[in-house]
Parts: sequence; structure tokens; C-alpha cells
Amino acid sequence: MSVEADIINRFFKKKTSAPLGIGDDAALINKNTKEYWALSQDTLNVNTHFLPSTPALDLGWKALAVNVSDIYAMGGQPKYALVSIAINKHNIPWLEDFSRGLHQCAKKYGVEIIGGDTTRGQTSISITIIGSVEKKKVLKRSGAKLHDDIWITGQIGLAALGLDCLKKKITLSEAAAKLAIKCLYKPSPTDIQSLQKYQLFHSAIDISDGVIADLSHILTSSNLSANIFCAQLPVSAWIKKEKAFDYALYGGDDYQLLLTASAKNRNRIKKLAAQKRLKITHVGQVTNEKKMMVFDPNGKPMKIVNKGFKHFVK
Ligand code: ADP
Ligand code: MG
Repeated sequence: MSVEADIINRFFKKKTSAPLGIGDDAALINKNTKEYWALSQDTLNVNTHFLPSTPALDLGWKALAVNVSDIYAMGGQPKYALVSIAINKHNIPWLEDFSRGLHQCAKKYGVEIIGGDTTRGQTSISITIIGSVEKKKVLKRSGAKLHDDIWITGQIGLAALGLDCLKKKITLSEAAAKLAIKCLYKPSPTDIQSLQKYQLFHSAIDISDGVIADLSHILTSSNLSANIFCAQLPVSAWIKKEKAFDYALYGGDDYQLLLTASAKNRNRIKKLAAQKRLKITHVGQVTNEKKMMVFDPNGKPMKIVNKGFKHFVK
């Protein structure tokens, strides 16, 4: 267990009267007989979650986008947000850009900003998001079923590639680098409600810490295991060519969704996704084996390492 999970479990996890408390992408409270309110909060701290050089407009966008993905991961529709910012100086051009990025993201995802807090300190943005979820469409981490297909939306590994480009650890073509850095700075969560309206999925999580770490959360909550096939992962041409699958398996910050669904719905999901122009890829299966297995493009099992992002290293 990570130190963060240990802290949460030891000091904060208590019994709750809410239908769903700590431990999922969002908590759920009753809205009416048919719907829940889904509430979640994600924070971006300078140097931990973003480089000080991050353009303010992108930061404003990202601070909200990383919350939107948590509501989508519950099968819900984001509605309202409370925005808490700490900044160390009254920098008008920075605030103009930051708020523009924030409002652009809010408009794109249909979110209204209804409150927040403004304080002085090391740059940090913490957003509480509130979404609405139909009870029969709700997606919990604990919902995966044995033999489910595992699906991933969009492309993964791109944000981590972007970070390595910025750190000059790798060199990509100009166009590929631009796309990867855009994914890092301006993540675009995928809304799967157009598919989930048919209740096709059983569980979901947003991929903030890489496929292995986030899939593990679903598997732990559902008491199951999984096989993942690298050849099927929706990754860039560069990752495929270099066989650099670690970017997708262990790289964070993509904010795409990982979902599970009954294998009997595979063709329906593919067909509907094509109709809706939604990119979603079947990448593996839920199993009841002892441990998760990841297979390289030749079908050979790969060693799984515990590399997901950790705030506190033991
Ligand atoms: P996510 O990656 O989806 O944002 P986290 O890993 O940050 O989720 O958190 C895991 C769970 O623990 C979530 O349900 C979150 O609400 C809860 N949590 C995290 N930190 C705290 C805290 N300090 N107090 C109470 N609950 C917390
Ligand atoms: Mg999440």
C-alpha cells in the first residue's frame, strides 16, 4: 500500500452515512430517488504536479480538467466547481491567463464555477467538483466482474512523453513533441455517457498515475486480477516503435478512462464508439488469477514494477 493510501485509511477513512465515501474517484450523496451528486477534489501543487514554467492558461485548464475526469469516471456529468487558489503574488497577467484557461475548460465541459477561496502561498490550485450521476449508470471501482473486457479511452502515455520532452530526456519529431506537451498541459477527459446511457460498463477509473496503478485500484476494490496486452494499448507510434510501453503503464497525467465491461458487449461498444467518434480500445481482460499480468507485443509476460507516482516515498 502506498504511504498516501495508508494516511487516508488510518487518519481519514471513517464510517459514513453517504451512499459512497472515501475510496472511489468521487463520493456519492443522494440527490433524489434517481440520481446522486458526485463530489471530488483534486489539487495541483507547483513542483509536485506542474513545472513552475507551465503557462498559466494551461494550468487553469488542467486544474479543472483533472477534476472533470473524476466525475466522468463515476459515469456522471460535471456541473459545478469551487476553486481554491494559493498564489504568492498579485500577478495580474498571470491571473488573466489562468482564469481564461479555467473558464475555457469550464465552458467545454459544462461546469459552472460557484465558489472557492483565494489565499497567499506557494502556487496551488485545489478544485472541488460536483457532478450529477444517474443511480443506474453509476460506475464504481468495485464494480468489475470476472472475465470483463478492459477498455481505455483516447491515447495514453502521451502526457508522460510530453514531460520527458520538456525535461529533454527524449527527442521526438516537432509535431509529436507538440502533441505530447499539449496532452500534458491540456488534458481532454473523455465523456463516456453516450455509451454508458446503455449501461454497458461495470466499473471505471480515470488514469492519473498510469495503467498499472489505476487498474490496481479497480482490481483491489473488485477483488479480482487482470491480463493486459501491450500490443493492444492505445499508444503513440513512437512508443510502439521504441517499445517504450512504460510511458503508458507507469506514466501519469493522461486523465483518460479505464473501464470494464462484459465481453458480450464488445462489438456493441466498438460499434457505438465508432458512431459517436469516441476512441476506446480493448486492452485486456479481468481474471481471477493471483496477480496482474502484462504481456509484451510478443506475448511474453513482463515484470510489473511498483512505479506509479507516489507523494511520499518510504
Ligand atoms: P483520485 O486519484 O481519484 O483523485 P486519490 O487517490 O487522490 O483519488 O484519493 C483516493 C480516495 O481517498 C478518494 O476517495 C479521495 O476522496 C480520498 N481522500 C484522499 N485524501 C483524503 C483526505 N485527506 N481526507 C479524506 N479523504 C481523502
Ligand atoms: Mg480519479
